[in-house]
Amino acid sequence: MGRDTLSLARELRYAESQSTAELEARALTALRDLVRHAKTHCPFYWDAALPDPDSLQQLSDVERLPYLTRDMLRHHHHRMAWANAPRRLLLGHTHGTFDESVRFIWDRTRQAWDKANRLRGHAWHGFDIGDRELHLWPIDPPCTTAGRLKQRLRETRDSLTAESQINSLALLDGRIAPRDAWAQWHEFNPARVTAYPSMLAELIQSGMDCGIDVRNPALRAVFLTGEVTFDWQRRLIESALGVPTIQCYGLQEVGAIAFACERGHWHVSAESVIVEIIRDGRPARPGELGEIVVTGLQSHAMPMIRYRTGDMARAAEISPCRCGRSLPIMAPVLGRGADYLVTTDGRQLAPHEVVAALSEVLLPGTFQVDQDEHGDITTSVIEADHLPINWQNRVIQRSREMIGRFRICTVNAVPTLRRTAFGKCRYVTSNRRPRPLH
Ligand SMILES: [Zn+2]
Repeated sequence: MGRDTLSLARELRYAESQSTAELEARALTALRDLVRHAKTHCPFYWDAALPDPDSLQQLSDVERLPYLTRDMLRHHHHRMAWANAPRRLLLGHTHGTFDESVRFIWDRTRQAWDKANRLRGHAWHGFDIGDRELHLWPIDPPCTTAGRLKQRLRETRDSLTAESQINSLALLDGRIAPRDAWAQWHEFNPARVTAYPSMLAELIQSGMDCGIDVRNPALRAVFLTGEVTFDWQRRLIESALGVPTIQCYGLQEVGAIAFACERGHWHVSAESVIVEIIRDGRPARPGELGEIVVTGLQSHAMPMIRYRTGDMARAAEISPCRCGRSLPIMAPVLGRGADYLVTTDGRQLAPHEVVAALSEVLLPGTFQVDQDEHGDITTSVIEADHLPINWQNRVIQRSREMIGRFRICTVNAVPTLRRTAFGKCRYVTSNRRPRPLH
């Protein structure tokens, strides 16, 4: 594929044994290089107030750089690109949690970093190249000859590296029946699976409903990514498949960000990304909810400097991980900012809190909660025989206890839950204040 993935992966395995000071020095050098590169080669950053790279003396000086928002990316991605790059640049688009995807520009170097980071994260759990991997993933149908050729190349690569794909979009729109997807799964007999949690939970549920024994003998772990995993999803996946789940965090426009180790801590890929948790324009204090802001140190094709992800985490004092790795640990992502409900008294409820509260009445995974701009909420519930008597009133009562008794809370029965264009399922959304912390 013309990438340096394997030599980079070997280098990363060595780098993770370096001291914290060595990792920070390495990241600071990469940050200075990135800022210098952006100021020199990317028209968008000619106008931005970027400081002199040599004035960045420590890693926390990243706080002196301006933020990059999703809107800036949407409107200026061409001006953000490396002008006159010596290598070919690639145009991608996100399968983001928001319906509207954004375009981004990347190159083979960043692709190699992403893959090398994945290889390292998977190696922590005993996986190596060649261990069969199944991706349950959205695949855009190719609509040009070049696209079809690229897809064929990808399939050849997949067969060489023992990977296989099930297109989650085809599952959603009925082009693939769950029974056929399970037949493909069992024939391939993967050692590991990478999936969106909501999609995998639904596939497992529909398989079990059809009476299929979903386990396969070679499977050792499931890597979950792309969405926040709810407890009920983790329990369902682990009990049905009989293997542990492992959390991975990344954004297509930035790359791989963090992988959970065998102790469950999210270790940041510090050689290629700086992660901050920001509240009101300053680092969030321990216990505070903040927005995750990331800087992609290997994003030279389109420098991603202090990108506001819209993802939320609760800052915490974190002691070194007992796994012994010195890569920094980040607090787990709790959800999108726009997935937090705002109560009458101004508190913010994380999606998992809302789902847990309503799961006292309804089965998790069978309902979606939407808050409108006035603060009122609507719960959409999949019609089913198992709903308890008087469920509507109980849902309304529990919703009011959560959100405030003077809010209008309504329920309606629906045939199925809404998903985004890329198959993600947002169980809780709010229009009350799309960006609550800024
Ligand atoms: Zn660890």
